[in-house]
Amino acid sequence: MGLQFTLMTDHKPLVPLLSTRGLDDLPPRILRFRLRLLRFAFNIIHVPGKNLITADALSRAPLAGPPSAGDLQFEKEVEVFVDSVVMGLPASDRKLKTVKTAQEEDEVCKKVINHCFAGWPEKCQLDQDIKPYWQHRTDFHVANDLLMKGQRLVIPKALRADILERLHEGHQGISKCRARARESAWWPGISTDIGRMVDRCEICKTHRPQSREPLLPTQVPDRPWQRVGMDLFEWSKKHYLLIIDFFSRYIEVAELKSTVAEVTIRAIKEIFARHGTAETVVSDNGPQFSSELFKKFAEEFQFTHITSSPLYPQANGEAERAVRTIKDLWRKETDQSKALLAYRATPLEHGFSPAQLLMGRNLRTSLPQPTSKMDPEWPDLHTFRRKDEEGRRLQAKHYNRRHRSRPLPQLTSGQK
Ligand SMILES: [Zn+2]
Repeated sequence: MGLQFTLMTDHKPLVPLLSTRGLDDLPPRILRFRLRLLRFAFNIIHVPGKNLITADALSRAPLAGPPSAGDLQFEKEVEVFVDSVVMGLPASDRKLKTVKTAQEEDEVCKKVINHCFAGWPEKCQLDQDIKPYWQHRTDFHVANDLLMKGQRLVIPKALRADILERLHEGHQGISKCRARARESAWWPGISTDIGRMVDRCEICKTHRPQSREPLLPTQVPDRPWQRVGMDLFEWSKKHYLLIIDFFSRYIEVAELKSTVAEVTIRAIKEIFARHGTAETVVSDNGPQFSSELFKKFAEEFQFTHITSSPLYPQANGEAERAVRTIKDLWRKETDQSKALLAYRATPLEHGFSPAQLLMGRNLRTSLPQPTSKMDPEWPDLHTFRRKDEEGRRLQAKHYNRRHRSRPLPQLTSGQK
């Protein structure tokens, strides 16, 4: 451990920016600075200007000669970093241009952009329509002519209805829509607007979930695609194979021309070719899974096959739940691929999306997203594991309380 410094500043907004705020919420300029400061251990505290003994000595020390190469380098680095946050935006993304144009035409956005450059006055001096922006004033910045709040795009009024619709693509619930918004878009009151929209959605109203399957907390495997569950299901007179990864809860679905072993195995192979062969496969005792052909397949591809048994009837619960999830989504969104994409790209309760956990990157969807969100990045697995286990425990607890479910008494022989 090195020396711990105490940094005193009379500039109050700087304190949270350099200490408590999460890196994800920071404007790129500040983020770059924070990253540079990570190698120092320091406390930052606010001290009113009049109490600072050596008042801004540095800003009064004149620079001898032109800025050094190091100074210039840092400046350049910051610029490059800021650009990279936004500029990686796919050039063809008309959506981002739409956002930019709409911001330029929006009176409120124009005023916020002005304050970004000219500084923010006291709250009481602001126009009424800008007041909701005041509390976030340190988060706003303009990058490549786009007004952003941290790493989220500020959406002007004209586009909000459209973005709301996109956030709700796939008709997922309120918390999932909010999670999607946190990755891409912001406006004052967005959270309330999302709640109101989902509550009003007719399609969601007619398809409230009714499932009450027993919920068992399942242990998370060590790695993505280590242990997967499989199940067959029928939808609109067609047969499908579903595979769910127990680590990421990423779901693969393949249409089957028939449910015989040969066809099922061919579909599984295609999916294994994409993600690798799982170490363990869990399924029920359907004829295709208990066939001789499947046994050979397991040997050839070197995976362990576990089937549910009278002793272990819950073995395939996870895959069965995934089937219900997919059916729920397809009932609401008839474009099956769109529904799957929405599921895979949306953060689960623990904050990470199935795609992030399986592939270490976010998937591009029709939601406009800053490209910084598209850079491959492995989620913090420690946090993931903690939150995931917590979530599963809570879920099971709530479920059991709600349905007063308890384990059935053991049967003895002769009992009816
Ligand atoms: Zn809906």
